[in-house]
Amino acid sequence: MAELPSEEELARLLAAPEHQHNPLLPLVAALAENNREQRTRLERLLRISDSSYGVAVSRNQDLLQQYDRQLKRLDKITRISDRYQRSLLELNDQLRQAALKDPLTGLANRRQLMDQLQDEQARCRRGQPAFALAMLDVDHFKRINDTHGHDTGDQVLCRLAETLSGQLRTQDLCARWGGEEFVLLLPHTALEPAGALLKRIMTAIRELVLEEVPGLQLTVSAGLTIHRPHEPLDDTLRRADRELFRAKKAGRDRLHVAGV
Ligand code: GH3
Ligand code: MG
Ligand code: MG
Repeated sequence: MAELPSEEELARLLAAPEHQHNPLLPLVAALAENNREQRTRLERLLRISDSSYGVAVSRNQDLLQQYDRQLKRLDKITRISDRYQRSLLELNDQLRQAALKDPLTGLANRRQLMDQLQDEQARCRRGQPAFALAMLDVDHFKRINDTHGHDTGDQVLCRLAETLSGQLRTQDLCARWGGEEFVLLLPHTALEPAGALLKRIMTAIRELVLEEVPGLQLTVSAGLTIHRPHEPLDDTLRRADRELFRAKKAGRDRLHVAGV
């Protein structure tokens, strides 16, 4: 194909005097004009397309940056929410623990004792060896309060709780039953070893040196029994309480044991 003349060349050819009488001149001039218009239009279209491409690219970058910022924000929120959830779980755990503890002595409270007694009862029903249960009551505790004040009475209860816990085996549980009364749950323990453990505990209490109340010898009375298979827990607790009552009646500072 022949090479097309440039616009200037074409203009020059059309203006040349030797072509002025050529009958094709108006047609070629019209074609040249039409060609120029088309080119102008095409160039304008190209400019528009270039600039919208630029706008699209910068808008895309903007969106990417926004997306990145949102991701970072989301990551931060997730970390905060994770931390918040962890502290809620810890708080929940602390609350659960607190709900099972006696606030004064830190021993198990009645609720934790009853939970554990139910577990032990279920174990016995499955044929496991029975548990022993002892109920202890401080002798003449009211006198300590009356003579030395309620705060000193509280301190004595705490010292007593430490002594009780210190004497127990890891599987045993000591709970504050209420006031100056405590219950010992001794899993998988026959009457005789349970009695021996109780005697050791009572000796440790007798030997307790209380700086809060110089010269005072603290003693407890105790009732001991064994859970009988298939009996309600209330029966076991009542039997221990009955023996405790008998120990008090018999003069305090002693252990009474229910027959099997
Ligand atoms: P007994 O030998 O017959 O058990 O005599 P007691 O004085 O120990 O028994 P009593 O039931 O007459 O009195 C118990 C006292 O324990 C009365 C009550 O004020 C006191 N007490 C109960 N709970 C607490 C406590 O949390 N702190 C203090 N300081 N005293 C308590
Ligand atoms: Mg009492
Ligand atoms: Mg008492």
